[in-house]
This record gives sequence, structure tokens and C-alpha cells, in this order.
Amino acid sequence: MKSWSTRPVPELPGSMPTLRLFDTAAGGLVDIGQQPEQSMYVCGITPYDATHMGHAASYVAFDLLNRAWRDAGARVAYVQNVTDVDDPLLERATATGVDWRDLAASQIELFHTDMDALNVIAPDHYIGAVEAIPDIVPAIEQLIADGLAYRVEGSDGDPDGDVYYDVEAAGKRSDATDAWTLGDVSGLGEAEMLALFAERGGDPARAGKRQALDPLLWRVAREHEPSWPGATLGDGRPGWHIECTVIARKYLPAPFTVQGGGSDLIFPHHEMGAGHAYSLSGVPLAKHYAHAGMVGLDGEKMSKSRGNLVLVSKLRAAGEDPAAIRLAILANHYRSDWSWTDETFTAAKERLERWRRARSRATVELAPSAESAAEPESALGLLAAMRREMGEDLNAPGAIAAVDRWAESVLSGDADIPVAEGTLMANAVNALLGVEL
Ligand code: ZN
Repeated sequence: MKSWSTRPVPELPGSMPTLRLFDTAAGGLVDIGQQPEQSMYVCGITPYDATHMGHAASYVAFDLLNRAWRDAGARVAYVQNVTDVDDPLLERATATGVDWRDLAASQIELFHTDMDALNVIAPDHYIGAVEAIPDIVPAIEQLIADGLAYRVEGSDGDPDGDVYYDVEAAGKRSDATDAWTLGDVSGLGEAEMLALFAERGGDPARAGKRQALDPLLWRVAREHEPSWPGATLGDGRPGWHIECTVIARKYLPAPFTVQGGGSDLIFPHHEMGAGHAYSLSGVPLAKHYAHAGMVGLDGEKMSKSRGNLVLVSKLRAAGEDPAAIRLAILANHYRSDWSWTDETFTAAKERLERWRRARSRATVELAPSAESAAEPESALGLLAAMRREMGEDLNAPGAIAAVDRWAESVLSGDADIPVAEGTLMANAVNALLGVEL
């Protein structure tokens, strides 16, 4: 599927020396290491609703990782999926009387426009669940053949043949040190897992399953639901976790460097996806698992049912500058849970204006003379400070504070600064934070 377009990332002198990132599976900060190639899979949207601030914050978070790797001189392979057929999409289409394909297409288009506006670097491969079905079917067939998945008999109106992953059998498969067992990614206990599984699309009470936590791999065709050829599985459509695993394994190395997403994807999605990958190949899916915090509105959880979604597209339509939206997101550390408020958005707009004013002070062609009053901080010093902050678990608030200090030092003095200083400052802010001045 077509992705969105990427705007140029300015080249900076030097490079980011080290990068440490919080790995959910490891439970702490890890050195990512300097490799010539880094790879990342970030779970995409289910396209039934416009991009709200929580989505935007998550994709902006992993865009910071992409930018940090590029600054460190690495080539980055980046893959994202879009779950273009799933229960919530079909339910919304039915409720609104829109064809599910039209709903998906329109929301994917809106998402791309939002990502483009927010200056998020596009993935190299943007893959839909529907187009991945021919790859997903043989993977599920293999899991059944290996005794790690099973068909469930029909009951309560469900037909025969839905396929589930056997988490217990999969966890016992190997005693290799990098083998997957349930809980390796999330670190959760069974009671927490059961609660989250029910809350996040799982079906713990489905009759005929071997374990309550076994996730769906293949949903056989139902009347009034779209379905695709499934070879020996029968017509149907895939579960969500196997979709991401198969797409990641097809387009990225095994294991790839970082699996990313919002913290609501830790369990069951990333847990089960890691299990599927190990069951299919004997190799872990990813080396590291990183997660972005949740975004609320004025202290409340943001959700469709509460009717309090802050939509990027609505802010854009109201004439707000996407760079200010991005800067408002970046004022919060990516791992923290935070709330969108009018005050914080106003503060971001004022900050952007200050940074742009500081940049516009860069008007002289030559360096200021030695007699000039207090010299502003150098842009090279600013760049080094920003790299230190971003290298330490993508600390955007720290990098923003460094730019604030630089802008303050420029705006508080009388001297104009050389054009090259302003250009370097603007390039650093663009390349590392993705904010265009
Ligand atoms: Zn995913």
C-alpha cells in the first residue's frame, strides 16, 4: 500500500554518539548499539477513526528514534502495518452505514495527511492486513502442523474452524535462552493478563479454547463479514497479532532492532506477536520492545466513547500550525502518560514563535566583531546538548530546554548572529525533533 511522503531531513555536522532506550521486556534502559543498519516495526492504526492525539504522540515518539538513528549515521529500515480489516472497523462501518472499504480508505488517507503534516518520516513499507493475507495463511498452517495452533468447534452461533494459538504449547517448545514464554515481553502475571486480554479485544470466555489467553489466529467466514481464501484454513480473515508478526518477518531482518507502539499494545499484542514469531522461526521477533505513553484530555482518558478525542485533522482545519502540534507533543517525555490541554498547546505555540524569532535574528553574513556585547551561545554547543538529551532515551523535553536556552541567549542580547548559526540551529531542530522553523 502507498505510504505518505517524507520531507528532507537536514544533514548535521558530526553524529549522535550513543543511544540508550527503555526496553519494556528488559525492564530498563539498554544500549541500542551503533550498527550501520537499524530496523523498526511500529504497529499501525485500525482505520475507523481519525488520528487522535494519542496516535499522533506514538508515531512522533518513534519518529524521534528514526531521526536519532539517522543522526548516528545508520540506515533505518522502517515498516508499519494498517489493520484494514478488523472487528472495530466493521462495527463502525455497519453503525454508520458506510461500506467498510470506503471507511478504511478515507481514514487511511486522513492518517497519511496528518502524518505528513506532523513531519513524521514515512515507513519504507506500509502494509495492509488484507494484502498480507496470502503470507499469513501459510504461517497459520505451519503453526497448526507444528502443534502450536488448533481449530475450535463451533458453538453459540460461531461456526466450526476458528484457529487459536496455543500459548502453553508454544511456551514449552524450547529451552533455548532466547525462547519465548508467556510474559517475556510484558512481565505481567496471569491475573493482569486475563484482565487486559478481555479489555483489549481478546475472547477469554470463547468455548472450546485450551487456555483463556489463547489468541485468535484465523476467523473463519461468517455471513455479512468479508472473507478471503484461506487454503486449508477455509475462507476467513486473520487475527491481529499474527498480521503484524508475518508482515514484520517478511520485510525486516530477524530479529529486527525495535518493536514499537503505544503502551496499550504491550499486552496482548506485542506479547503474542513475539510468541508467534518464535514459534514460526525459532528466532525472536525483535531485540527490543519500546512503548509510548497514553495521552488524555484535561486529565481524563481520551476515548471515542467519552467523546473527548483531540483530532490532529480538526486542529489543522482550524488553522493551527502542525509544527506547534508536534512541539506540544514533544514537551512530554514519550514514555510518560500526559494530558492535552489548551494551556500546554498555547505554550507550544509561544515557544515555536520564540524559536522562529531567535532564528530570524541570524541576519549578519559575518561573525560578530570581538567588541560586540555578550556573545550568544553557539549553535554547535546547542547541537551537542540536543544530542546528549536525545541519546538518553529520546529525552525531547531536555532537548527542547536546550533550544529554549539558546533562543533566550539570542533574544536577550543586542547582537545579531551570523546566518550560519541560525541555519545550524534550525537544521538541528528539524533533523532531531522534526520541527520546522
Ligand atoms: Zn502490531
